[in-house]
Amino acid sequence: MKKAILLVLIAALVALFFYFDIHHLLTLEGLKAGLDQFESLRSESPVLVMGVFLVSYVLVTALSLPGAAIMTLAAGALFGLGVGTLLVSFASSIGATLAFLVSRYLLQETVQKRFGDRLKAFNEGIEKDGEFYLFTLRLVPVFPFFLINLLMGLTNIRAITFYWVSQVGMFVGTLVYVNAGTQLAQLDSLSGILSPSLLFSFVLLGVFPLIAKKVLAVVKAKRVYSGYKKPKKFDRNMIVIGAGAGGLVSAYIAAAVKAKVTLVEAHKMGGDCLNYGCVPSKAIIKSAKIAKQIRHADQYGLEASAPRFSFKQVMARVHEVIAKVEPHDSVERYTKLGVDVVQGYAKIIDPWTVEIQLNEGGSQRLTAQSIVLATGARPVVPAIPGLEEVGYYTSDTLWSEFAKFEEPPKRLVVLGGGPIGTELSQTFARLGSSVTQVERSERIMIREDRDVSELVQQSLREDGVNILTSHQAVRCEKEGASKYLIVEQDGQESRIEFDALICAVGREARLEGYGLENLGIETQRTIVTNDYLETLYPNIYAAGDVAGPYQFTHVAAHQAWYAAVNALFGSFKKFRADYRVIPWATFVDPEVARVGLNEQDAKAQGIDYEVVRYGIDDLDRAIAESAEVGFVKVLTVPGKDKILGVTIVGQHAGEILPEFVLAMKHGLGLNKILGTIHTYPTWAESNKYAAGEWKRAHAPEKVLNWLEKYHAWRRG
Ligand SMILES: Cc1cc2nc3c(=O)[nH]c(=O)nc-3n(C[C@H](O)[C@H](O)[C@H](O)COP(=O)(O)OP(=O)(O)OC[C@H]3O[C@@H](n4cnc5c(N)ncnc54)[C@H](O)[C@@H]3O)c2cc1C
Repeated sequence: MKKAILLVLIAALVALFFYFDIHHLLTLEGLKAGLDQFESLRSESPVLVMGVFLVSYVLVTALSLPGAAIMTLAAGALFGLGVGTLLVSFASSIGATLAFLVSRYLLQETVQKRFGDRLKAFNEGIEKDGEFYLFTLRLVPVFPFFLINLLMGLTNIRAITFYWVSQVGMFVGTLVYVNAGTQLAQLDSLSGILSPSLLFSFVLLGVFPLIAKKVLAVVKAKRVYSGYKKPKKFDRNMIVIGAGAGGLVSAYIAAAVKAKVTLVEAHKMGGDCLNYGCVPSKAIIKSAKIAKQIRHADQYGLEASAPRFSFKQVMARVHEVIAKVEPHDSVERYTKLGVDVVQGYAKIIDPWTVEIQLNEGGSQRLTAQSIVLATGARPVVPAIPGLEEVGYYTSDTLWSEFAKFEEPPKRLVVLGGGPIGTELSQTFARLGSSVTQVERSERIMIREDRDVSELVQQSLREDGVNILTSHQAVRCEKEGASKYLIVEQDGQESRIEFDALICAVGREARLEGYGLENLGIETQRTIVTNDYLETLYPNIYAAGDVAGPYQFTHVAAHQAWYAAVNALFGSFKKFRADYRVIPWATFVDPEVARVGLNEQDAKAQGIDYEVVRYGIDDLDRAIAESAEVGFVKVLTVPGKDKILGVTIVGQHAGEILPEFVLAMKHGLGLNKILGTIHTYPTWAESNKYAAGEWKRAHAPEKVLNWLEKYHAWRRG
């Protein structure tokens, strides 16, 4: 309403301006013709004329009306160089700031909401260097000032900054124009005021601060290298440390573009994902799922029975699966691809030199133009008194240690209610362990919405997991051969006896022991990098779990592209790592898959959203498979079909999510998904039905009412 009043007021003022023909007055001819009259008015009451001039100038600029240049000349002609410059300098800055504020008030919210994600890089640029850009634009009078005012209003630059930078930036230009106004009689056209050489000087002045800033940045970047001697020649273009997803992909890209690259791995090729993470966990999840299906076979008209299996065989299969995937990440494969693979522990000696303690003995030093750190993360072991004494497993050890067991642990405690802890709790419960999962938050999978956590919790409980939320693990105790975990809730302690305990309370980046400390590379839980994944040393990059902020294999691979391409081609063009559309899945049953915002994120970030939800219990395929559990929840921009985020809970959630990932990545809305044929009967149909829910909620009621009347009329 207030915005409407302001718009009407502006429209009225603009109409008056043209109605009273003021725009004809504000031409060179108009000014020359009326100058004598203005002169006599000014000599009669100079202060009044100055005041009227100031207010008119402010109004003309605030309303973005044509004529400010003529008024600047008039200031010179009427008030002389000194007073004229002073008057125009303030009037133009105040008017420009008013125009800026009006644009901000009327449009900024809408523009930022609508294009905020696309404007992110621009907003960040303005936040960082906004005053420099504005200063340049102000100094060079070829950019229309009214456009600058309106466009700057849409950015996040502070109004006070806008004011003073505008005043300083426009000052020289104002001086030139006011001075020209003092010789108005000799002036034939506006273009005569700015000679090409004067314009060129303005351009130089304008770009000077930007150039100076860039030079300073280069000097600063160079300064970190002082004290180190850069080799004249390098052994390699790139050295990659760590052969997990991040390192493998970096090395692959380098070799593909014919760079000479060495990949160093201290332990196992493939890193955590292949050896201790994604691959073994998904392999055992499959066995556990089949065990559950056997136990509940009556759901499918078969006879239910207790699954009979050898745990040793289950674990042997896990290792067979790792072995089957291994060749994808092997030394042989990468060597064939053109990567020089070295097995050993790497340490950065200086910004270009890496020393490798070879696994086979001895050491090797190599120099490279750039280094990519892809050293990954390791499980966090919480500081719980008595933990070391009772013993524990982590994802690093459980695959090899459990493989030695004849039976799954009888009583298993899983510490942690995140994705890894939840996957493992359900798995071992299904394989016959009596599992207690301990989580200090009020629910498991706390990063997902409450309805998601509740569904997963319910499913785990049906599998027999004893979930203790809002419980803090305080200490471990040992009595003879018996081991206990003491947990506390609301000041009350209780004791859980266990045979095995798995710590799954998070993973921390590997930051010590390979030279970061010596080089002073900053770390804050992960290696600190800029948008290009450069560390403090612009030729040293980080990718994957060690760089954060996500800890997923596909994100490590995604970052690897940026690290490798920036490392090898950054002197021509650098790319900012793009985290706008990152999907992930937790492979519990029912699966949870997400991309973009969920409700709690949207609320925390103050982003308006609408939500539609399609219940998978309604999906024909789910019913046919007796798996009618879960939902597809889509967050959209209010009133629009633009997708802000999607959470899917249900069978194959991770497999059906990519349709939304693609849609978000390429700006396709729910209407496009609705208009796409989905094979019947598939799980993916739930995406289309969710889009249908959105369409129903946005049905054009008025049009439908008219259509109803139309059809009634047709029936006669
Ligand atoms: C149980 C579990 C389940 C998971 N499930 C999934 C999943 O389903 N989906 C998913 O996307 N992610 C999953 N993850 C996460 C995924 O494993 C990681 O995000 C991924 O491995 C990160 O890859 P990276 O290259 O950053 O590091 P890593 O895979 O950890 O590789 C780093 C490598 O660097 C080596 N290294 C370290 N320092 C040195 C040095 N100085 N010299 C030489 N070598 C060194 C290490 O030995 C290691 O091999 C899971 C993780 C776990 C633990």
